[in-house]
Amino acid sequence: MKTKIVATIGPASSSEEMLRNLIINGVSVFRLNFSHSSYEDHQLVIDRIHKLNTELGTNIAILADLQGPKLRIGLMENGQAFMEDGHELVFTTNECTCNSDRLFITYPEFARDVKPGEDILLDDGKLLFRVLETNKIDEVKAKVIHGGILSSKKGVNLPNTIISLPSMTEKDLRDLQFALKNRVNWIALSFVRTANDIIELRKSISQYAEEGLSVRIIAKIEKPEAVKNMDAIVEATDGIMVARGDLGVELPLEQVPLVQKTLVNKCIKACKPVIIATQMMEGMISNIRPTRAEVNDVANSVLDGADALMLSGETSIGQYPVEVIQTMKKIIREVEEFQDIYNKHHEANLENKEYLISDSILFSACNIAWEANAKAILAMTHTGYSAFRISSQRPKTDVYIFSNDHELLCTLNLVWGINGIFFDEIEHSTTRTLKKITEKLIASGLIKQGDLLVNVASTPIYISGKTNMLKLSFA
Ligand code: PGA
Ligand code: MN
Repeated sequence: MKTKIVATIGPASSSEEMLRNLIINGVSVFRLNFSHSSYEDHQLVIDRIHKLNTELGTNIAILADLQGPKLRIGLMENGQAFMEDGHELVFTTNECTCNSDRLFITYPEFARDVKPGEDILLDDGKLLFRVLETNKIDEVKAKVIHGGILSSKKGVNLPNTIISLPSMTEKDLRDLQFALKNRVNWIALSFVRTANDIIELRKSISQYAEEGLSVRIIAKIEKPEAVKNMDAIVEATDGIMVARGDLGVELPLEQVPLVQKTLVNKCIKACKPVIIATQMMEGMISNIRPTRAEVNDVANSVLDGADALMLSGETSIGQYPVEVIQTMKKIIREVEEFQDIYNKHHEANLENKEYLISDSILFSACNIAWEANAKAILAMTHTGYSAFRISSQRPKTDVYIFSNDHELLCTLNLVWGINGIFFDEIEHSTTRTLKKITEKLIASGLIKQGDLLVNVASTPIYISGKTNMLKLSFA
């Protein structure tokens, strides 16, 4: 299976037995959602995943998802209230208990940033209010356009407002430190607006991370501003999540499919992984079978060329976490039989002089593997560079990436088509080292004697340098 599955952990999936079951059935990455759960709960899950990686010999990655500047209302009197169409009410930035006339919003600058005529969406867009006027200090008058029941602490989306909140809250900084201390592989940031948000996160990571930690960044695209700035964000980040949940609230829904396709293409070009998230198999939260539309959505995301498909409620609170993985895996497998999804991004991107040699070799390796119908592409990596480059060619050939850095192998587990294998027996001789990794693959049953192999490596092999060698051989 080339396309990876990301599963969000929650009460339905946090036991050791369930985590093991999900790994065995095809999960490559676990997402810890820092909008929910305590540090104690996250810690238990992280320890279990590390233990299972050792027990099962896997490289399952951990993705820590930071909440970012998510806006909410406060606690409601009696837990909820009915908001009637046409009713006028006041949003206040002074903390209070909320009712149908007065709602506290967790956004101190709200009255200054918002303008009359702008939309206020609540509870994932189920309710729509419109701004009438603001006193520019602490109160905003609004009118209910589409009402309904509103309960405590529901999320607020302001699609048209330029929000002046910092990209990371105090909570995000604490969560980041917790995640880095636990050496997670990916940090995702919610509600990214500009490339600068990613640059700031990178600064915080280098401030708090221990030496040698190979943690990378996922920018969650879920605001119109981020869609507008997508080129700069793709350039600044290490990976992208098409966060269709909030994106579908903040952007006209009908625009989401093309934003998904555009982002997937840009990420493949940039050699950076892209995750498709939210409502992929939503119905399977409570049904054993997905809808036809859900099957199509999963299939089409694989056809688009996404690196990974993400499950949220389906695995965190759903009734069928294992079944949803099994179903998703079957759909992915079936679509991956279709030849047209491979090698379609095959064009040499050799603009960077510094990487001209390695990029040419890695490009050619994929090309040769395709032309000669090779059994496997074998590469060694110290930084992950070769893996990201090879993956971006979407080769049909199996790809095995060897590294002595277990955490890096976990990081690469999110990436389309990459199979990481731990290897720390590099010898002085290139020939002997390549022979060793071939023997290792034969011993684990992944290739057979006589299979055609495409090797890429840097020579001299015992020094970590850029890829400069391409060799074809029979195992
Ligand atoms: P969330 O992000 O689940 O953290 O909100 C994903 C999305 O909005 O789609
Ligand atoms: Mn979101």
